[in-house]
Amino acid sequence: MGFCLFNNVAIAARAAQAEGIERVLIFDWDVHHGNGTQHSFETDPNVFYVSAHQFPFYPGTGSFGEVGIGRGEGTTLNIPLPAGAGDTEYVGAVQRLVLPAARAFKPELILISAGFDAHRDDPLAEMNVSAEGYLAMAGAMRTAADELCGGRLAFILEGGYALSGLREGIEATLAATLAPIPPVAEAVGAPEGTTLRQVVDQVVAAHGSSIPDLGSS
Ligand SMILES: [Zn+2]
Repeated sequence: MGFCLFNNVAIAARAAQAEGIERVLIFDWDVHHGNGTQHSFETDPNVFYVSAHQFPFYPGTGSFGEVGIGRGEGTTLNIPLPAGAGDTEYVGAVQRLVLPAARAFKPELILISAGFDAHRDDPLAEMNVSAEGYLAMAGAMRTAADELCGGRLAFILEGGYALSGLREGIEATLAATLAPIPPVAEAVGAPEGTTLRQVVDQVVAAHGSSIPDLGSS
């Protein structure tokens, strides 16, 4: 329902499965909720879809309570973030939510819906992610891929409507991918009452105890 003719990451996941990969984790850091990707896999327990996105925002889906359907219940995880969220919220959400979910799911391949429209320069959305934030997120996902699935990781370019945001975000992502050792994100604190803490608590509440260590830093 967005600006794409084909859902590249969904096609990539199914193509990998056709080649013998069973379990695929998709992390979608594009600023929009990936409603098409979620819909493609919401009943499929072998594709874990996790999205961090501005909410409420176009296309309107991606609330905490959308956790998958039927056999796919529990393998959709939504992290809706309010306008104004930046590195603290995004990197914190990766550390506290995406990484525990990935460790529990044990993917054989990790795909990233790598839009850069949450960049602070983007004219479409209202988020504040910097180059350092993308470096930290990409580094964390590379570490996860190294730990969990032999380094099998692909970044698929999605949105991004400021040339400066695309340039900085892509450069940071490539730097994290190509560095001899993945960059480690600085500890991101989340005192009680902060936006991150509230979002983490609501995700944990939506998923209950089905994912060990969900919400812990
Ligand atoms: Zn987008």
